[in-house]
Amino acid sequence: MAYSGSCHCGAVTFTVDADPPSEAMSCNCSHCGRKGFILTFVPVDQFRLDSGADQLTDYLFYKHAITHQFCKTCGTEAFALGKSPQGEMRAINLRCVPAIDIEALTIQKIDGASF
Ligand SMILES: [Zn+2]
Repeated sequence: MAYSGSCHCGAVTFTVDADPPSEAMSCNCSHCGRKGFILTFVPVDQFRLDSGADQLTDYLFYKHAITHQFCKTCGTEAFALGKSPQGEMRAINLRCVPAIDIEALTIQKIDGASF
């Protein structure tokens, strides 16, 4: 069952063509910590940007391995663009998916601060 998410103002919307995850990642790096992300990763072919391509602004830091994209109106980062050994991925900020109960997820803690 696919699930959908959006930025806060609703300009940026997306759909992930996969079942909602029961597990997700929380990372303590300087970026994830500030934004409070709860993340899951999906292959790019399961991700569809439904609206708001012209609203997205890129944010890059460190090795520029991940392209963080946030809505220029409301500032929300609903997802990011990255790569893995399996290919191009999308990191989904599950806090931007209303259908997902964050409190019910099994959270895997990533020590990104030490990377
Ligand atoms: Zn927005």
